[in-house]
Amino acid sequence: MTTVDEPARTGRKRTSVPSTAGPRALVVGAGIAGLAAATSLHRAGWRVTVCERAPARRTGGYFVRLAAEGVEAATRLGVEESLRTRLPIDGHITGVDGRGRTTSRVEAALVEDGVSLALVRGDLEAALWEGLPPGVEVRFATAPLAVSPAHGAVTLSHDGAESTERWDLVVGADGVRSTVRDLVFGPEEEFRHDFDHVVVSAVLPRLPGALVEGDYVVLVEPGRSAHLMGMAGHDPVVFFTYRTDLPQAAGTEPTSRPVEALRAVYGDFDGLMPELLDLVAGAGATHADTVGQIHLERWSRGRVVLLGDSAWCPTLYSGHGSALALAGGESLGSHLRVIDDTVPDVPAALVAWEAERRPVTDVARSAARRARHFFLPGNRVVTALRQTALRAVSEPWVAWLLRRVGRR
Ligand SMILES: Cc1cc2nc3c(=O)[nH]c(=O)nc-3n(C[C@H](O)[C@H](O)[C@H](O)COP(=O)(O)OP(=O)(O)OC[C@H]3O[C@@H](n4cnc5c(N)ncnc54)[C@H](O)[C@@H]3O)c2cc1C
Repeated sequence: MTTVDEPARTGRKRTSVPSTAGPRALVVGAGIAGLAAATSLHRAGWRVTVCERAPARRTGGYFVRLAAEGVEAATRLGVEESLRTRLPIDGHITGVDGRGRTTSRVEAALVEDGVSLALVRGDLEAALWEGLPPGVEVRFATAPLAVSPAHGAVTLSHDGAESTERWDLVVGADGVRSTVRDLVFGPEEEFRHDFDHVVVSAVLPRLPGALVEGDYVVLVEPGRSAHLMGMAGHDPVVFFTYRTDLPQAAGTEPTSRPVEALRAVYGDFDGLMPELLDLVAGAGATHADTVGQIHLERWSRGRVVLLGDSAWCPTLYSGHGSALALAGGESLGSHLRVIDDTVPDVPAALVAWEAERRPVTDVARSAARRARHFFLPGNRVVTALRQTALRAVSEPWVAWLLRRVGRR
């Protein structure tokens, strides 16, 4: 199947003409947060350089539902036109247990709010990349080695060579395993609240069994789940989440050997799972990591600010990580506007920006702490309650009632 993610898939070259006027900003990381910040800072009068550790732009990734706040930020950035929801409204969400038995079946329309978008991460990054102003310079295969928050001096490494430059602003948008955070704020262990879960995702060449586009299947047993989606105009995507304290997970190395870990943890599932695991083994994982939130008392120090998962990672269970990354990046420019060639007071502007953004991130992190029990029920009782709730929702009269309430 051809994936409609063209700019990313074809690796089309972007022609950039770096700006020569304005204060200088370095954005570390060309993910959702970094690309959104680069565009908004450029519009606010900054000369922006993005440095990305990867040798080229990433594609595909995993399923993300972009919540309303993210769609609004995408609109303000002028990139919403290229974003189309990929889960057809007439599809179904089917619950399946480890023996392959269907436990619930709900119309996808029931969970649609008519605003948020079902995408893959690559859709968002491709749209932001296409919308990046030509004045923004991008350096791939480049990562920071040292950062001075007071003076904005950053030592970058590229192809084994090191160079040090001064910046008026440094934005660490380099994800949950942020190097900028390590260099400026301290080691990750000080800020990470681990959920003791693993997440592994993959993009598959086809759906297993007789599934078709629009099918969303959730395979659940206590401590283990897999979410499989037949996306419109994109290869199917799947993500697995499981608890690290499961006996089956003992001795596995999910981040370095994700396929072997999945076979150990889900090997006893029947139904679609054996074929699904073979498909993942053939395709390889696009993401494999443990799940944890980041909690920092301050997101900025001097001229350095953290943004997106590097600052506040709410985890996938919040369903808001991409929206917060996008909206956080988009709003940075409005706090740092260059007016009449005057550079704003960077540390003060960063404090004001944080005061605006912190309440929504707090809400998302709290929601994620609750939602993880729904995504990944810890025992048979919670699993049964979850199935009963979903079965109730599958009843036509409950569905009718929910649709009416939703419309109100
Ligand atoms: C399986 C899964 C499902 C998810 N589902 C949802 C969902 O449904 N809804 C939702 O809103 N969110 C979801 N999320 C979360 C969402 O994807 C993240 O919150 C969002 O991508 C964070 O964006 P970011 O730009 O801050 O970080 P990242 O996406 O991690 O981007 C960081 C970038 O920085 C680069 N980088 C890293 N280190 C360096 C370095 N040292 N130097 C230079 N560059 C560097 C990376 O290569 C990358 O390009 C999900 C996440 C996962 C894993």
